[in-house]
Amino acid sequence: MAHHTNREADITHDPGTVLSARNVVKRFGALTVLDGVSLDVHRQEVVVMIGRSGSGKTTFLRCLNHLESIDSGEVLVNGRRVGYREETDQPVEESPSKIAVARRNIGFVFQHFNLFAHLSALDNITAAPIKVLGLPKNEAQERARDLLKRVGLADKADARPSTLSGGEKQRVAIARALAMRPELMLFDEPTSALDPEMVGEVLAVMKELATEGMTMIVVSHEMSFARSVADRLVMFDSGHIVEQGPPERLITAPQHDRTRSFLRLLT
Ligand code: ADP
Repeated sequence: MAHHTNREADITHDPGTVLSARNVVKRFGALTVLDGVSLDVHRQEVVVMIGRSGSGKTTFLRCLNHLESIDSGEVLVNGRRVGYREETDQPVEESPSKIAVARRNIGFVFQHFNLFAHLSALDNITAAPIKVLGLPKNEAQERARDLLKRVGLADKADARPSTLSGGEKQRVAIARALAMRPELMLFDEPTSALDPEMVGEVLAVMKELATEGMTMIVVSHEMSFARSVADRLVMFDSGHIVEQGPPERLITAPQHDRTRSFLRLLT
């Protein structure tokens, strides 16, 4: 693909594009987990990613957020890329500060919440804004209380994670990610570790966020959510995007065998 390899601000960058992944390759030893994945995500777009377990969805999200380094290709956030040496164009281990700057624009919600067990809900939410953004404590707390209200947990500020239900933990985790005022939110199977009765409360918060215009990439097999919230459904298979399009089209008329057989498994 012919594109400029301008290092800092990419002159081919479309300002409506929040995230651009281009030919991302990721290997773990001899195993190629991502085999040239390209994806552009536009401002306020909601992308839902589906595909068999082991197809590379989680690894892809982790590469977008620099939780994993990539072997080749590039990831641009707002047209800026990290992970390359300017003179040689070779991948490098980025400095922690540069990665922190790139990451601060991206919120990440994990399957297993990953809350700090020894901190209250409020302190979970204020930790990064205080430490990374340098927000004064009272300001961070005010922001955190607003967010707890927004996710329906105004009365849980002082609760430790162990006293919360799975659905409540995940809503705290969403509030924690939002506290950094990210431009893009990544959700990695946010409801798959939850008891069925708690799935709805988490999806409702995510739906609300989408309605408010948050740009989101969501790995999820909740097809009713995908149908009602996603702008685009992306099908992963063996480290490739094999098919993508409007959810309704993909669900009712999948073009690819792999998509067809995968969707059959879900129903
Ligand atoms: P998915 O999210 O679609 O289930 P993953 O991205 O979790 O897929 O995994 C893709 C493949 O990469 C799997 O074969 C998995 O075993 C492998 N994998 C993931 N993380 C690691 C790692 N840290 N080391 C080695 N292999 C890994």
